Formats: sequence, C-alpha cells, structure tokens
Amino acid sequence: MNFTNEKPFIAGNWKMFKTIPEAVDMVQKLHDASLGLEKAQFVVIPPYTALNEVSRVLKGSPVQIGAQNMHWEEQGAFTGEVAAPMLKDVGCTFVVIGHSERRQLFGETNETVNKKINTALTHGLVPIMCIGESLEEREKGHTISKVQAQITEGLEGLDAEKVLRIIIAYEPIWAIGTGLTATPNQAQEVHAFIRSALAEKHGNDVASYAIILYGGSVKPENTFSLLKENDINGALVGGASLNAASFAEIAREAIKAYEEK
Ligand code: PEP
Repeated sequence: MNFTNEKPFIAGNWKMFKTIPEAVDMVQKLHDASLGLEKAQFVVIPPYTALNEVSRVLKGSPVQIGAQNMHWEEQGAFTGEVAAPMLKDVGCTFVVIGHSERRQLFGETNETVNKKINTALTHGLVPIMCIGESLEEREKGHTISKVQAQITEGLEGLDAEKVLRIIIAYEPIWAIGTGLTATPNQAQEVHAFIRSALAEKHGNDVASYAIILYGGSVKPENTFSLLKENDINGALVGGASLNAASFAEIAREAIKAYEEK
C-alpha cells in the first residue's frame, strides 16, 4: 500500500502552473522546510512537463508524485493524451481522476472516470477520484445525491480489494479556487456520508481504512479545523500548494490536527 490513514495525506495539485526550474525550486524548498516529512504523507502533482525532473530530484525522498490526469487506454492514436504506463515510467504513484475542472471544461463524466480508475489500478497507480457538487446543487439540497451518484458510477464494477486502493477527494466545486471553503461541519457531513456509502457497498474494513481528502480553498488558516474532523484524512490543495511556505504551513497544521484527533 502506498498510503495509510494513520498520518495526514497532503497533496498539492499544481494545475497548469510551473516551468521545470520553478517545479524543482518548489520541491527543494519543501525539503528545506524541515516539516518532519515522516509525520505526514506528501504528494506533489506537477504538470506533465515537470514530472521527470521532479521525480529525479525526489529520488529517495518520502515525498511522492502524482499526475493530474491520464487516458483510459494504455496506448494508441490519442494525440495530446498521456497513458498510465507513461506515468509509472516517469515515477508517478498517484493520478488525479475526474477533477472538477476536467469534468466542467473537458467533458469528463462518471463513465470516463470509471474507465480511467480501472486502467490506473491495472497499472499500479493510486487514483485520487474527485467528486463534489456545484453551488446550485448545494442550494437545491442535492449535495448528497450528487456525491452518491459520483461514487456509485465512478466505482461501478470495482470490488472491495480495488476500492481499498483508491483515494477519494471531496471537492465542492463552489469552493475550488474561489476562496470559499466548506465549513468543517459541512465537509464532515459529506465525508461521513461517503464513508457510510463505502461501508454499505464494500464493508466496514474498506470504509474505515479509506482515505477521504477535502479540497476547496484549503489554506493554512483553515487546515487545522478541517482536519480535526473525524472523517477528513487530509487535503487536496490547489492554489495554496503553489507556494512552498503556505504548503509547508498547511502540512504543519495538518500534522497538529492529526496529533490532537
Ligand atoms: C484543487 O484544484 O483541487 C483545489 C482544491 O484548488 P484550490 O485549493 O485552489 O481551491
């Protein structure tokens, strides 16, 4: 297993930011931040172009690497796409699947998410499956039904052994990149629902082992209160992961919250 729920899981999604020198500078600063890297699980998720160099710089480090997306086919005539074996090849352990930006801007559906998860697992990558509701869905009281459908369809056909190898990130769309954050109560409510849905379908062991991340304008000031919640195992951080000092501060707050849980 490449992850455990005994330590906070902190992943930084760099989206379409950072050249190779900027990416290398960022991971070097993370190492220099004396975080007590063993007290948490760190994953950096650079753009494809920086994966190779970041992987080289992180050799031997406990910081792991993820990619932001992949195709469900293993190879083929898919111009502009990247395949799971290529991500393994370049040192990735994790891959984000179904980020809301991919769903909203690039036509990803629960069906493509499901195909990608299957391929990622076949190649030994850990999918980080992103789910979450829009503001309109929340205001209409459809949050739980939306999340339920994303889990059911995204994980369709997967048995308990496979679901154990997946990380779920609850990312309310209205909180991504907006500065709005779900309150700890709002996030905990959905996380608890996700865990109960996993228990119902795959059993209590899968549910209690599952890592469920929160994402959506996580910053140093809100990390502690979010990660203190019972069912929040870590954070998927976008904007605040682009700056080494704020990412390091988020990590410190996450470690503190876990120590006090
Ligand atoms: C994300 O991109 O997954 C994310 C949560 O972004 P931000 O932290 O910027 O809201």
